[in-house]
Amino acid sequence: MSYINYEVREQVAVVSLNRADAGNAQNAALLAELDDAFAKAVADEGVRVIVLRAEGKHFSTGHDIAPAVLETEPWKSMFDDVDQTGMLRMYDWESSHYFGYSRRWRDIPKPTIASVQGACVAAGLMLCWPMDLIVAADNARFSDPVARMGIGGVEYQAHGWEWGARKAKEMLFTGGWMGVEEAHRLGMVNRVVPLDKLDEETFALASQIAKMAPHAMRMAKRSINAMLDAQGQTTALNYGFETHSLGHANAWATHKQVTTAGLAEMTEGNKTAGKV
Ligand code: ZN
Repeated sequence: MSYINYEVREQVAVVSLNRADAGNAQNAALLAELDDAFAKAVADEGVRVIVLRAEGKHFSTGHDIAPAVLETEPWKSMFDDVDQTGMLRMYDWESSHYFGYSRRWRDIPKPTIASVQGACVAAGLMLCWPMDLIVAADNARFSDPVARMGIGGVEYQAHGWEWGARKAKEMLFTGGWMGVEEAHRLGMVNRVVPLDKLDEETFALASQIAKMAPHAMRMAKRSINAMLDAQGQTTALNYGFETHSLGHANAWATHKQVTTAGLAEMTEGNKTAGKV
């Protein structure tokens, strides 16, 4: 693995995004490695808890949209022949990768903890939201600015579940930042800790949970996730992904671009995220 570090310490798998020089922006290879790392942790009977953390200043600045990277991303080539194939190849790819990963990671049959510092932007939310718990540093901040790109939100449309309907609308309508204290108050973040204590505090929580009975943890998780499903979360997430895909299709139909605003603004979005 080149974009992900993986180690097991005291029954805790520590999975680290290791692309700090790019703000842990996500390309297809990083996500595939991350999916492999989670699968490895699930298969290892010695692992009881999984921590997802990130090297560097920022947890993740979203999907990598640097022009040079885009040329090599699988979905970019789909736009090159979209006039022949329509949007369904793109829809299928995002369904199984971006959306599919987040859906699968939500249901990992072991407790998962995200450990977040700095910027967590757009697809960054798709990494931490599917985790069971979120421990955040006091400098963490969150944003989904993709409405500026002509799309209603990221592929995993969990904003309303994480922030409540009214706040989720404000965040999507403005594309602004939410500070960590507000994210904590709204229930998205479990604990806020000093940045220099983030790893220590996250690992302490993971170690505490690792001492609990694994089967009980699995059943506790299943029951709470079932509660979310009974409230309609799966249906709402599926609908959110459909509207996201309609956003892509509309941008292509009207502007022949990946998004209404185009790649230049997307790239600017990554740069902005890197500045905070
Ligand atoms: Zn998309």
